Amino acid sequence: MGQTVGLYLHIPFCQKKCDYCDFYSLPNEDERAKQAYAKALAVHLTETAPALTRHTVDTVYFGGGTPPVLGLGPLRTLMDLIRRRLPLAAGAEITLEANPGTVDGKLLKKLRREGFNRLSLGVQSLDDDLLALLGRTHNARQARTAFEEARAAGFGNIGVDLLYGLPGQTEEAWRATLREVVAWGPEHISCYGLKLEEGTPLWRDRAEYVFPDDDAQAEQYLAAVSELEENGYHQYEISNFARPARASRHNMKYWTLAPYIGLGPSACSDFGGRRWSYVRDVKGYVNGVLGGGDILHEMEEIPVEARAAEYLMLRLRTADGVSGNEYVRLYKKNFEPVERALEAQAARGFARSAGDRWRLTPEGFLLSNRIIADILEARAEEA
Ligand code: SF4
Repeated sequence: MGQTVGLYLHIPFCQKKCDYCDFYSLPNEDERAKQAYAKALAVHLTETAPALTRHTVDTVYFGGGTPPVLGLGPLRTLMDLIRRRLPLAAGAEITLEANPGTVDGKLLKKLRREGFNRLSLGVQSLDDDLLALLGRTHNARQARTAFEEARAAGFGNIGVDLLYGLPGQTEEAWRATLREVVAWGPEHISCYGLKLEEGTPLWRDRAEYVFPDDDAQAEQYLAAVSELEENGYHQYEISNFARPARASRHNMKYWTLAPYIGLGPSACSDFGGRRWSYVRDVKGYVNGVLGGGDILHEMEEIPVEARAAEYLMLRLRTADGVSGNEYVRLYKKNFEPVERALEAQAARGFARSAGDRWRLTPEGFLLSNRIIADILEARAEEA
C-alpha cells in the first residue's frame, strides 16, 4: 500500500445563500451550469488520477456548498470515476456533506448504495426562529427527519454540525440543543461559534440583534465540552467531538499535515511538498478545465521552517497536541523554546503535558489563537 492521501471534491452550489455564510458557493444555479461543473470536475479527476497511482486514497470528502444540490446523477458519476480510476482503499471513509431538506430517505438510500458511508449533516440549530434568522432553508423538524432517514438508509457514521453564539441564544437553550442531538446518537458532533463575516446579510443587520458577548460565548463553548464529554464524545479538536474511533479521518489530515488533493474552485491541495489552490470562480474553473486554460490560483513550495510552524499551529488545535521528539525528528528544530512557552501556558491552566506530548486544555483551546501566536513568537526569538 502506498502513502495514503485524502481527496476533497468541492461542490460550490447551495439552494440559497445563508445569511451568515462567506464560503465560496453559488445559490440557484441552473441545471446546465451544474451539469457543466460536474463534467469539468470529472475531467479534472481523471486528469489527476495518474499522479496518485503510488498512493492509496483512504478518505474522500464531498464538501461545499451543499453537495446533494448537484443531483444524484453527477454524484453517481463522480463516485463511479473514483472507484474506477483512483487507488481507493478498502474501507475508505467517504463523506457527503448535506443539509436537512436537501436529502430524503429515498435519496439517502441511493447515496449509501453509491458508496458514501459517512454523512455530515448541517443542522446548526433546533430553534426554528434562529434557523430562519440564519437564513437556513430547513427547520428543526426537517433536521430530526433527515437524521432518522439517514440512519434508516444505513449511514452508520453521521456527523452533526451545530452553531452557538447565536442572537438571543442562552446557555440553557444551547445545552438543550446539545442534549437533544446527543439523544439522536450521532457518531460525531461539531460545534462552531458563529462568526460575523463582513459583507454577509447578518453582518449588515447586526445592530438589530443581541449576540452573546465573548464571555457568554466562551461559557457556551465550555458547556459543549462538558455536555459532550459526559456523554462519551471525545474532544479531538477545538470544535470537533466524536465517539471512539469516529473522528473525521479526512479532517484529521488537515490538522496533521497529511497529504490531500482538493478539486474544484477554491479547493486547496497539499501534496508532494507543495500547496496550491484553484481559482475561486466556477465559470473560470469550468472553462479552464474543459478549454485547457489556467485554473491555478496560487502554488507554493512549503519550506521546512514554515512546515515546523504549521505543525505547531495545526497540531495544537487537536487533543493529540505536539510531541517534542516528533518535532525534532521531522524538522530538525530545537523544541526547548516551544516547551518553555508551553510550560508558561500550563502554569495558567491552558496547556498540559503527558510524556513528551503537549496539548492545550479546553480553556486553552478558547484562547488558542493568542497562545499559538505566543509560542511561535517565543520560538522565533530563539532561532
Ligand atoms: S448551506 Fe452551507 S455553504 Fe451553503 S450558504 Fe449555507 S452555510 Fe454556506
